[in-house]
Amino acid sequence: MVPFNKPPYVDKALEYMAQAVTNGKICGDGAFTHQCSEWLERNTESPKALLTTSCTHALEMAAMLCGIQPGDEVIMPSYTFVSTADAFVRLGAAIVFVDIRPDTMNLDEKLVEQAITSKTKAIVPVHYAGVSCEMDPVTDVAARYGLKVVEDAAQGMMCSYKGRALGSIGDFGCFSFHETKNYSMGEGGAILINDARYVTKAEIIREKGTNRSQFFRGMVDKYTWVDYGSSYLPSELNAAYLWAQLEQADEINQARLSAWQKYYEGLQCLSDRIGLPVVPGSCVHNAHMFYIKAKDLEERTALIQFLKSNGISAPFHYVPLHSSPAGMKYGRFAGEDRYTTRESERLLRLPMYYGITEQDISTVVEAVKSFYRGRPK
Ligand SMILES: *Cc1c(COP(=O)(O)O)cnc(C)c1O
Repeated sequence: MVPFNKPPYVDKALEYMAQAVTNGKICGDGAFTHQCSEWLERNTESPKALLTTSCTHALEMAAMLCGIQPGDEVIMPSYTFVSTADAFVRLGAAIVFVDIRPDTMNLDEKLVEQAITSKTKAIVPVHYAGVSCEMDPVTDVAARYGLKVVEDAAQGMMCSYKGRALGSIGDFGCFSFHETKNYSMGEGGAILINDARYVTKAEIIREKGTNRSQFFRGMVDKYTWVDYGSSYLPSELNAAYLWAQLEQADEINQARLSAWQKYYEGLQCLSDRIGLPVVPGSCVHNAHMFYIKAKDLEERTALIQFLKSNGISAPFHYVPLHSSPAGMKYGRFAGEDRYTTRESERLLRLPMYYGITEQDISTVVEAVKSFYRGRPK
């Protein structure tokens, strides 16, 4: 059996979690949380990183920081996870979906401007598979229209665009540390606050609407309820588990990149039958995912079934949000759906996780080749 995912684990994790328990501090914002957020700030060159209970919650914080009000519009791709949209819909926004580029599966930056109306408040580029969206045109159009940019960098830890860390380019950037991501704390995430003017407000939202963070820094002499908010702090136990991986972030990244490379080289001989991932020259990716694209939905279904019968789990991915019940209720597609539906129906993801063996990758590569050998062109 080759599973699709295994949660990342490194040996120090249990030791650090035990340490959190012995420290007598298991709620949020203890020593491990601080180490993780400082690491994120250092590695992304963002002025402020705050750990959160999920990327969904980081996106919810970003939506609040953007000041989203009922009736506002938010532009994003339809080919994404539900949370990208849901975080804004909760505050009454309408979602305007734009088509993706078939090469990277990312929002087509050329279609953003024509989707803007007088109600538009924010653009949410999603860096699919850790490959960056074409960010220069996105931040340029946002600046011209006075819009916020929230990067859904859930899959984008350790990635960059023209030398800048993903998550640090827009006004806010959101990471996920769910167990399916490259670095994990079970459930968890982080928000980068790239505009320092929003740091205090972000801390207040994350701390149940109180100024507790300022109180701990000695900036105010008592803490009180100052605004709306929620509870978005992860426990120290989770942060300790994550910290063990951040200490070895390069090693984990290198291992994933070499697995990715092995898939790429192994499957290149099929490039006239399948689509292989594209990484533009301006992007450094993190091997979050290795996907291939079959000819169409029918071929993909047969391939997934064939791999399954060979003990290999290779799932498809997002069903476009604009075709879901909530997507139809809360959103609309701007322009033509040339690629979103078509490309999403072709894509399947091959097993990829920290610790996958060369043997497992060869097994998967051979199985894909054997499927195409038995299938007329
Ligand atoms: C995983 C993921 C999320 C949600 O992350 P959680 O931490 O599970 O809330 C959001 N957007 C994208 C693109 C993701 O891949």
